[in-house]
Amino acid sequence: MALDRSDEILESQGVYALLKRIFSENAALYARSYVIAVICLILVAATTAFSAWILKDVINEIFVNRRAELIPWICAAVFGAFTIRGVASFIQAVLLAKIGNDIVARYQKRVFGRLMDLGVNFFATSRSGELAASINGNISAIRDVLNLTITSLARDLISLLGLIGVMIVTDWFLSLVSLLIGPPLILAVVYIARRIRTVTRETVLLNARVAGTMQEVAQGITVVKAFTMEQQLSARIGWLIDEAFHRANKLASVSERMTPLTEVLAGAAIAGVIGYGGYHTVVNQEPPGAVMAFIAALLLAYEPARRLARLHINMERAMVNARMIYHLLDMEVHQNDAPDAVPLDVKKGRIVFDHVDFAYQEGVPVLHSLSLVAEEGKTTAIVGASGAGKSTLISLLQRFYDPVDGKILIDGQDIRGVTKGSLRGRIAYVSQQPYLFEGTIRDNIRYGRADATDAEIEEAARLANAEDFILAQPQGYETEVGENGITLSGGQRQRISIARAIVRNAPILLLDEATSSLDNDSEKLVQDALDRVMKGRTTIVIAHRLSTVVNADRIVVMEAGRVVEEGNHRTLIGKPGGVYARFYALQGGEQSDLLDEKPASNEHREETPSAAVS
Ligand code: ADP
Repeated sequence: MALDRSDEILESQGVYALLKRIFSENAALYARSYVIAVICLILVAATTAFSAWILKDVINEIFVNRRAELIPWICAAVFGAFTIRGVASFIQAVLLAKIGNDIVARYQKRVFGRLMDLGVNFFATSRSGELAASINGNISAIRDVLNLTITSLARDLISLLGLIGVMIVTDWFLSLVSLLIGPPLILAVVYIARRIRTVTRETVLLNARVAGTMQEVAQGITVVKAFTMEQQLSARIGWLIDEAFHRANKLASVSERMTPLTEVLAGAAIAGVIGYGGYHTVVNQEPPGAVMAFIAALLLAYEPARRLARLHINMERAMVNARMIYHLLDMEVHQNDAPDAVPLDVKKGRIVFDHVDFAYQEGVPVLHSLSLVAEEGKTTAIVGASGAGKSTLISLLQRFYDPVDGKILIDGQDIRGVTKGSLRGRIAYVSQQPYLFEGTIRDNIRYGRADATDAEIEEAARLANAEDFILAQPQGYETEVGENGITLSGGQRQRISIARAIVRNAPILLLDEATSSLDNDSEKLVQDALDRVMKGRTTIVIAHRLSTVVNADRIVVMEAGRVVEEGNHRTLIGKPGGVYARFYALQGGEQSDLLDEKPASNEHREETPSAAVS
């Protein structure tokens, strides 16, 4: 079980440091509401203590001394106390719930903002489903930490102190005896809290894995069905669920150990008090009011004392979750803009890779002193076997990662010295997998450029050959596209993502050609759309289709992180024994008509396998 990664999270922040941080980040924001809530909680505590204290007069004055004139006053006082208690409880509960909801919403936004800031390397190593599940589960912990502390201190602690006050005033000796149950309770709490920490952490992680796996399965359901993976996956998830189930049971049995202990101790104390007090009343003929008030106070003190005893345990659980959230919020964002970063100024869009070395992990180089030039307004096709480093090159150009050595220049400016926002703003990227996001078709095109007008969006859709099918949708541009655009075909999704790139109107276009085979009509429409968007832009395309390669102004052939050949189709094909010539031959490209550099017709595309050079 890979649960170890949480150890460092667990140890990274002490309980008090964490508590201080949660308070400093939140308390001031809700100061007014907290003050009102605390006043209400104090009222609740005070009325609780009062209802015990008044019992002495109820019994002694009404029942023993038979003072009829006091009856209405005492009844009014009791009724008043309960009314105040009811109203105060209501106000504090609503206020604390509202604050809690606000905290959850704020942290959700903060966490999402942080996820947006984190580099692609974070997502490359995280499982999205698990991440989402653990974030959801963890954020409420911050609310719980605050609310637990406030209610425990303001209501339970004050109630307890008030009731102990009543006890001491009515009988100090009995109070001392009753308070003897305190120390064993505290010892038990400390022991249980320590045990609960590990189990809680494991439970949280396992639950996140279960939720995450379910989400992944839902996303990939077609593959699951196609490979009849249902049973294997059920067994796997069943195992995870069983593990989570055992942990949850363990958690219950450990944390509930408090209950018998507190009950036994409280039982002993209450029985002792009744015995001692009863003896005094019966044998010494003392009025029973004081003993009754004492017993009432002791009984009422039991609940807040029990809650305070559990506080540490509940807090321990909440802290485990809160730490995970802070761990995410504290993650360092790599490749921040340099302090003196300037906006990128693209006039032509000439791209130069100058002896670039790169490795994802130390000691495993992926690019070796790679140099290449993508001329302005021209198309440069990158060709190479899978794993050669083509996608890496595209990632580096967008500064998802920084080179280990060497430079990447756009119009002579080192991209390390420019702001990431301006760099990415000048680049339009069409990925192999056409992602659609939350929102309508119009929103999805507008993600290309937030200030694009409706007219620009529709023009882009036309250029991307997307207009016809968009207008055929039930609500046209306003049609909501579900997760992964489930109601649209692969080619349609691709054309929307091309429209997104057109709307961006950036001078540089990065294109990762789709390898998934589209039907011929669809492919032609996509290709037409791409041809339009490539026109006049500096385009770097990871080419999988021969027609793209043949028509590119320049072809760069990569092998194991190095450029091994460069040139146009005609020069490369003429190199006997060259890598490109071999690729070309392998794809049955020797037909004479494919040597023609004019745009290949649709039939040619049909003849050439689309994923041929991947
Ligand atoms: P291509 O696009 O040509 O198929 P890539 O650029 O995706 O090649 O990958 C080049 C090499 O880098 C491969 O060996 C791949 O395993 C490795 N690689 C790609 N992405 C990562 C990553 N996020 N972390 C570690 N290694 C990676």
